[in-house]
Amino acid sequence: MTGIDVKHFTYCPLITYYERVMHFRERVTEAMKKGEEVDKDVALQFVYPTLKPKEVERKPFLFSRKWRISGVPDFLLIFPGYVVPLDVKDTDKVNRDHKLQVFFYCLILEENGKVPKAGFLYYTSLKKLVMYAYTADERKEVIEFLARIKNIIQGKRPKVRQPVSKCENCGFRHVCKPTIRGKLAYA
Ligand code: SF4
Repeated sequence: MTGIDVKHFTYCPLITYYERVMHFRERVTEAMKKGEEVDKDVALQFVYPTLKPKEVERKPFLFSRKWRISGVPDFLLIFPGYVVPLDVKDTDKVNRDHKLQVFFYCLILEENGKVPKAGFLYYTSLKKLVMYAYTADERKEVIEFLARIKNIIQGKRPKVRQPVSKCENCGFRHVCKPTIRGKLAYA
């Protein structure tokens, strides 16, 4: 299981089912192409002078044997006595799936003996750094999510009710064909 699984599950649990059980391929949307073109180093121009990390690792591969999970945050900021994973996003609003994704990295770091105090997200179009404290509550939340994702990977198809706007940007809409009623999509 990876950080992408957590991000996709939080966006819509059916995506996890399509990817991990049905092995369908995601269709690349315009929004995704735009995301790939983002210059992630702009986040460092903000982070270096304001937070003054001791060191920065780019794209570190993180792995937890205990949870059998792995992930690659855009950056790992190293401070004296603690670390903070940082992901860079191009959306124009702060999303819950992004937050869970950085907490997922925190869980892996913790299992590797590090002290992750928080997860950071930098939104390039907003020019905004969002900081989320990582405590026992967030740890519990991520572990609960892992159990729910595992359930789906084992074959349990979830039923979803989503805002239509989510489906409009979804790379699985061509196979999902959700039923639209007003502003909601059912699948
Ligand atoms: S089209 Fe909508 S309901 Fe279907 S997988 Fe995508 S976000 Fe989920």
